[in-house]
Amino acid sequence: MRIAVLALQGAFIEHENILKKLGIEYFEIRQKKDALEEFDGLIIPGGESTAQGKLLHDLGIFDILKEKILKGLPVFGTCAGLIMLAKKIDNDNRVHFGTMDIEVVRNAYGRQLGSFTVIDKFANEDIPMVFIRAPYIKKINESCQVLSVVDERIVAARSNNQLVTAFHPELTNNTTVHQYFISMVKDYKNAKC
Ligand code: GLN
Repeated sequence: MRIAVLALQGAFIEHENILKKLGIEYFEIRQKKDALEEFDGLIIPGGESTAQGKLLHDLGIFDILKEKILKGLPVFGTCAGLIMLAKKIDNDNRVHFGTMDIEVVRNAYGRQLGSFTVIDKFANEDIPMVFIRAPYIKKINESCQVLSVVDERIVAARSNNQLVTAFHPELTNNTTVHQYFISMVKDYKNAKC
């Protein structure tokens, strides 16, 4: 198994550290040739979605990754990564990959209250969740599975090959969400064989 980590901007090293801890092989996507390599899963980190969108287009990576996601490549987006995958952004008229049928609100917790940590359930398991100028999911298609709700807001969900969290599991020592993603990748690999 080989996981690609989008490494254009944001908190990608933290994801790599978790993959290292789990003994999973990974590499960074920094330019077009990287995106053309073979891989079994993709992580889109937190950071700034507008900057990530611009860089993906400028570097000619955007269409390559979008096509792979549409073909079923497992993808895990955290925070800005969630915004990149959302079909609609409530308070922004940009759409990036737009491959996941969710509507999200950007910077939904206000600038001042932008960072906080809670312990709450992800797929029925208590984990620490770090929110940094985070979005939340306002609307979700029936085909999506809700995995976390914090303060009545959906903050983690899955739709087939796409997993998103509004929080940053990579900024904690807890590997639950990454392990969940790795099992999605395993299922995808097995189905392909
Ligand atoms: N506020 C950022 C955005 O809208 C996301 C914040 C994050 O990834 N920590 O892109």
